[in-house]
Amino acid sequence: MERYVVEKRIGVGSYGSAYLVHFRKDRNVKCVLKKIRLDNVGPKERAAAHQEVKLLSQLSHPFVLGYIDSFQYKNFLCIVTEFCEAGDLYNKLKSCKTYLKEEQVVEWFVQLLSAIQYLHERKVLHRDLKTQNVFLTKEGNIKLGDFGIARVLNAPVEMAMTVIGTPYYMSPEIMESKPYDFKSDLWAFGCVLYELTSLKHAFDAQDMNGLVMKILRGKYGSPPAHFSPELRQVVSRLLSKEPEQRPSCEQLNELAWVKSIMQQFS
Ligand code: ADP
Ligand code: MG
Repeated sequence: MERYVVEKRIGVGSYGSAYLVHFRKDRNVKCVLKKIRLDNVGPKERAAAHQEVKLLSQLSHPFVLGYIDSFQYKNFLCIVTEFCEAGDLYNKLKSCKTYLKEEQVVEWFVQLLSAIQYLHERKVLHRDLKTQNVFLTKEGNIKLGDFGIARVLNAPVEMAMTVIGTPYYMSPEIMESKPYDFKSDLWAFGCVLYELTSLKHAFDAQDMNGLVMKILRGKYGSPPAHFSPELRQVVSRLLSKEPEQRPSCEQLNELAWVKSIMQQFS
């Protein structure tokens, strides 16, 4: 903790708080420090949390938020990551006055796809994919953050609405209390992609019951017509109610449309 100087608190959640900090030795290096409360956590979960952080520390990918450091401070598990000065996708989309261009959406789509594929190949599930956890660098590239730790410090679904916020990205199978699977990440990916096109949630409601109903019915408005049929079809396949019908990252990469975009960016 002595290595860092806190500049300000940037987030509060059920887990604890997030701070913008800089290195005491170099005030130009800004990072994000997350303090995760461990006092209500048993020894088993505590060990699992440390194990998970060790795993995260070994990941490295251009579109995955970089890990810097972790340590225990009092009753908190602290995780230090890169700071993305351009903020998150949630705020970016909120500030949009017109729809994004197809080219911008597909660029972020392939960056997210490659980040999620990287995690899934290593048997890491994100578990909390949402626009608030997708960060942007000043170059306009994506950095996917805030994953993994949810596996070991699982908050119950009932807490989700009050503490964490409305669970807009929760898949139909999770609503039915089935186990979280990599296909549940792909559902959330579909929700994020939907927002990139439509600038609103695929499923929205005033309360939890309304949201559950909408997600289980599986109906949502189609994305604006100026987006290509290929892009709109990927959205609809990712938002398939049946997990088996959602494409995996590998299958998405096999699509001729995705292959041609990848070539463009390589
Ligand atoms: P949540 O993900 O539930 O919104 P967090 O505590 O993870 O809450 O984040 C709080 C705020 O800090 C969010 O607005 C988020 O965009 C921002 N934030 C978190 N991590 C980073 C980061 N690495 N770079 C830039 N902003 C970040
Ligand atoms: Mg977050």
